[in-house]
Amino acid sequence: VGEKLYLGMDFGTSGARYALINKEGEIHAEGKREYPLSMSEERVDWVKSWRATLYSLLEDIPVSLRPFVASISIDGTSATTMIVDRETGESLCRPLLYNESCPEALATVKEVAPLNHTVCSGSSTLCKLVSWWHAAETRPSSAVLVHQADWLLSLLHGTIGVSDYNNALKVVGYDPEVESYPRWLLAQPYSSVLPLVQAPGTTIGYMKENIRTCYGFGKDCVICTGTTDSIAAFLAARADRPGKAVTSLGSTLAIKLLSTTRVEDARFGVYSHRLDDKWLVGGASNTGGAVLRKIFTDEQLRELSKRINPAQASPLDYYPLVDIGERFPSADPNMEPRLQPRPENDADYLHGILESIARIEAKGYTLLKELGATPADEVFTAGGGSRNQKWIAIRQRVLGLPVSQALHTEAAYGAALLAIKGAAAHL
Ligand code: ADP
Repeated sequence: VGEKLYLGMDFGTSGARYALINKEGEIHAEGKREYPLSMSEERVDWVKSWRATLYSLLEDIPVSLRPFVASISIDGTSATTMIVDRETGESLCRPLLYNESCPEALATVKEVAPLNHTVCSGSSTLCKLVSWWHAAETRPSSAVLVHQADWLLSLLHGTIGVSDYNNALKVVGYDPEVESYPRWLLAQPYSSVLPLVQAPGTTIGYMKENIRTCYGFGKDCVICTGTTDSIAAFLAARADRPGKAVTSLGSTLAIKLLSTTRVEDARFGVYSHRLDDKWLVGGASNTGGAVLRKIFTDEQLRELSKRINPAQASPLDYYPLVDIGERFPSADPNMEPRLQPRPENDADYLHGILESIARIEAKGYTLLKELGATPADEVFTAGGGSRNQKWIAIRQRVLGLPVSQALHTEAAYGAALLAIKGAAAHL
């Protein structure tokens, strides 16, 4: 009998990945697939595309390893919403994608939701639900709202209408602290459409027999609830104690910190996701790599970085932004980008920009602490900027904390860790 393995799948914005790991977190297999873009009525048929991708990923898993998969979990894009039939799983309308907005529903949502609530945005799942509710010709009593990850998981376990509190938090106003939907939401006519909500990584059931036998998975392979793609990416870094944080340095700068306390502040767009008995507190700045990319190629970034002495503080004080406006750690919709004066030496210029972004990052962690979160004591880094060792050294000096590149940053790896959690609780 071989070692037990745990499968995580990540359904991101452009494609899907899988990671198959053992209990120690060692990767036994991984792979990715782009979404096939089958069209219907001039639109991509996402239902078909995601389903085909799910089965393709299952096929990509080495046949010899499939019998050893003990559990499976999936993450998907946050606020990607589907209304399906509880009995058959058939879609009752086309999926509404994470970035789609339903502005026509916003006024209705604002009437019922508390001021500044996370659902008060045109792309929230609640706006998508209300939009469907108003436009639908028929609203069968079997209709249920599910997120992308929920639906994909239901193809594997067969129970339709179960979600997790990460996918459900921002989107339907599910209150993870009291483990129920808020009263104002339950009072709405569409509350019958809301899914049942479980903790991420909760075992829902065994893999459906037809799928199990078709692909050759074991009889006791269980399927667990998932999470959102950005939380799965955080989980991948294994920042699993309060005070551990992950800074994502992609086009923008996002920070996430594990805290024993829940922190929310709508002014700065700061909110907390529940992770069992802890909170994942996050904030996102508009600064980040997008500005670097406008000025330098990635090749120039590498070459110029070599000439930076990270032990030396840069006197240049910038606020690198691509557009006007900042939210976190300074709430100022009129903030102007500041990238002047530009020194003659490009390495000095880059040093000033990297140092300025590091100061914004430091200010972000300070703000989270001021808002009541557990103080950060170690920072892992993900994203394109995490490859830059000089930047890591600069940030370490500016933050006054140990900073390192995260060992794992793939959301699929984080989903596989959730699968481990589900299997452990199931025993
Ligand atoms: P996203 O997925 O948010 O688009 P990535 O995580 O792929 O972004 O990161 C891309 C960013 O990383 C680019 O904006 C680029 O400027 C930045 N980047 C790439 N190489 C380096 C480097 N050596 N130093 C600093 N930043 C870099």
